This record gives sequence, C-alpha cells and structure tokens, in this order.
Amino acid sequence: MKIYYDFHIHSCLSPCGDSEMTPNNLVNMAQLAGLSAIALTDHNTCGNCAAAASVAKELGITFLPGMELCTAEEAHVVCLFPSVEAAERFEQHVAPLLPPIPNRPDIFGDQLLCDAEDRVIGTRDILLTTASSISVDSVATLARSFGGVAFPAHIDRPSYSVTASLGDLPPLGFAAVEITASGDVETLKTQYPEIQGKPLLQNSDAHRLEDIQDAGPFLELPDAAPETILAALRGEIPCIWQR
Ligand SMILES: [Zn+2]
Ligand SMILES: [Zn+2]
Repeated sequence: MKIYYDFHIHSCLSPCGDSEMTPNNLVNMAQLAGLSAIALTDHNTCGNCAAAASVAKELGITFLPGMELCTAEEAHVVCLFPSVEAAERFEQHVAPLLPPIPNRPDIFGDQLLCDAEDRVIGTRDILLTTASSISVDSVATLARSFGGVAFPAHIDRPSYSVTASLGDLPPLGFAAVEITASGDVETLKTQYPEIQGKPLLQNSDAHRLEDIQDAGPFLELPDAAPETILAALRGEIPCIWQR
C-alpha cells in the first residue's frame, strides 16, 4: 500500500510553532491533506504526542511519536518511536541533558502542552530550542535503544543541519536522510555520497497548519503499522520511496 506521509511536524509546544498547531488541529489538517501516516516532532520534547496519538487513533491515521533533537553540535536530528511510552522514556533521557535556560515566551514564543480536545493543560518552562549535550554520532544508536529510529533533518539547509554543523555528512549510522522539498537531490548525491542508496525523506517541517504537506511523497509497504514504517526507515525491510 502507498503510505502518504509527513514525519516532521511541530506543535504549539515548540516555541516557534504557531498557537493553532494544537494536537487536534494538526492531526485533522493532516487528514484533510490526505496523509496516512504522520509524526509529531517538537524541539527536544515529545510532550504533545500523547494527545496527538489519541486524535490520530480516532481518525485512523498512523501516528509516530517523535522529537526533533538538537545535538551538541547544533544539528537537528528527527527521532521517531513505536509508541508514546517509548517516546516519553526517550524524553526522560534527554531532559536532563538540556541546559536549564528558562523560556521567555515574550521573546521565543509559548510552549503549550495540550490535551486531545485542544485544551491547554500546561507549559514547558525550560527553553526547548537549545542544544542538548548528546553528540550527533550517538543519536542513531540511542534512538534504536528506545525502539526508535533517527534521521538527520533538512540536510540541504545552511543552519541546524548535520551538514552545516559538521561541514560534511560523515557516516553517522543513519539509514535515512531528510531533504526539503526544494532540495536538489542530484546535486546533494554528488556532494554527499553517503546518501547514495538511502531512503530520502521529504517532510514539511511544518510550524503552521497550512504548511503540513499535501499527499505527495509516499512509501510503499505491506501495511502502515508504526513498526513496519520504522523498520523501513532503518533499511531493514524493502520499501519503495517516492519523493
Ligand atoms: Zn530543524
Ligand atoms: Zn523541525
């Protein structure tokens, strides 16, 4: 089956995320966009994943709880997990490895925790967009130890990408790579031979509802179960990728 996906979406828990990016709103927008599998990947937190998972279950969309981790090198890496429980355990590992800098909502934006009905149930007080002390070369193994998978985010961007931070794309143990919709894949393949033969993901990195991508990029798999998708992202099972 064709699985139309968007595995990099932010909610209102990311300080840069629009206040309308509540779990209920974003999952409903994904359904309107014709997507069959999505991931919620806020900066350094999985705090709104439980609410989004509950909405996705109601709507029959496959949901992968996730996080866009900022590594010690200031490289963004998307980590996805098979269950909310696994994602929350990963967050418990990450939280003490973030600098204890308080958020300033007036400068950086609100960090809102919501329930599945979009009621604000709290805030995160530590600024979530800082760099953790986790090194980029340990993330693939770390995510795997929580049952998940990791891929470097937006490698064609000049900031907060593995390529921008390291000046290259060395072998880091990632099976898949994310390239933005405007990224020139052929040039990137020449520039970074490491991506040859890897699944190349195209996600929206949406911070606003209207930026969630329409059904377009897909992967073809026997089923849309989270474990099947994670196995494909790890390169463990055959999968057809279409950007
Ligand atoms: Zn990013
Ligand atoms: Zn992002």
